[in-house]
Amino acid sequence: MNWTPELLSPAGSLEKLKVAVLYGADAVYLGGQKFGLRQASDNFTAQELREGVEFAHEHGSLVYVVLNSFLHDKDLEELPEFLALLSELKVDAVIVSDLGVITEIQKHSNLVIHLSTQASCLNVESAKLWKKMGVTRIVLGREVTIKEAKKIKEETGLEIEMFVHGSMCMAFSGNCVISNYTQGRDSNRGGCAHSCRFEYSIDMQNNEEAKKAYFMSSKDLEGIRMLTEFIEAGINSLKVEGRNKSHYYAATVSKVYSEALAYFKAHGNFLSDDLIRWEEELRKISHRDYTTGSLDEYADESSIYNQRESDDNKYVVTGVILEVKENEHILLEVRSAFVPGDSLEIMPFSGPTLTHIASTIKTIANISVPKSKPGSVVKVPYIAGAERFNIIRRKLAEAQI
Ligand code: SF4
Repeated sequence: MNWTPELLSPAGSLEKLKVAVLYGADAVYLGGQKFGLRQASDNFTAQELREGVEFAHEHGSLVYVVLNSFLHDKDLEELPEFLALLSELKVDAVIVSDLGVITEIQKHSNLVIHLSTQASCLNVESAKLWKKMGVTRIVLGREVTIKEAKKIKEETGLEIEMFVHGSMCMAFSGNCVISNYTQGRDSNRGGCAHSCRFEYSIDMQNNEEAKKAYFMSSKDLEGIRMLTEFIEAGINSLKVEGRNKSHYYAATVSKVYSEALAYFKAHGNFLSDDLIRWEEELRKISHRDYTTGSLDEYADESSIYNQRESDDNKYVVTGVILEVKENEHILLEVRSAFVPGDSLEIMPFSGPTLTHIASTIKTIANISVPKSKPGSVVKVPYIAGAERFNIIRRKLAEAQI
């Protein structure tokens, strides 16, 4: 049996948590209503947190809670109450970037502390200092190569977590203020507006026509072809970015990487046909072009994505399965309209995609309809192998792209 790292997926909401866990995440990270960095995601209420932790633990997955916003004194006042809740729920760790927050955690709880990538830890000496402060795991900055990460792990004995997939910053994590000045939104207190993705003009000589470009926008990270290097370096956890992204994204990325890691565990290597298949799956979610960022060599100009969005995502989510009545029907919560005769792709929690032609679409009152409406619940004929919470997607016709 070969060792593989933990797969850590984003859980931007309770539904995304369930989806990520069911599609193979070993652990998920999420935020409460305060103290995290993603104001735009559906951060968890206390009740959702309770349900989410119970669900994850029942399915053998761990839960890490982000407390990685940069806090002022008045923000710290409310922290002990939240820490008491996290302790009661037995969350598996908290992810922190601020020394004041670490001090408060140690004063009020026994929670395990992971250092957030926001702290921009890039070297052995910095990691040693964080270890002295009580941190057990470092989420390394995306500027660190796998080779450097291996050295940090070997020389500190700390657990090491690295990003394997998702959006990238053009700035060092925790040091970006573009959103603050261009949008009035504080990147380091949860307000990043992704200002680096915008089109900007370079007007070097006032009178000339300004050259417009997306010169600060990074391609997205994809580490599927670097898994062997992560494993050989003993990296403990592979993190997927994207708490603000869709449940389809959480499902697809969790499924692809968990399948790949399970394959390695069983066989000790990867076959190139499988790698191609996993890469194809990762192209079916919304993304910019992919790059390996700084995983191998430090990222350079080849990692710039000089356009607004990628146009090679040809799939839409048709719906999520709410209920399966064996040999009768499937209840589907519709996310985008489809018509009888459309070819649907069901994403099982593991294994290859199931393809199915929806011969009929019915309301829950068994009335046939010519087209499903987004937001409605419909019945489609039973599909062997489909399960509750499976995602169903559809390839768009050329004319719809
Ligand atoms: S604006 Fe861009 S570089 Fe800055 S924090 Fe946001 S995503 Fe990262």
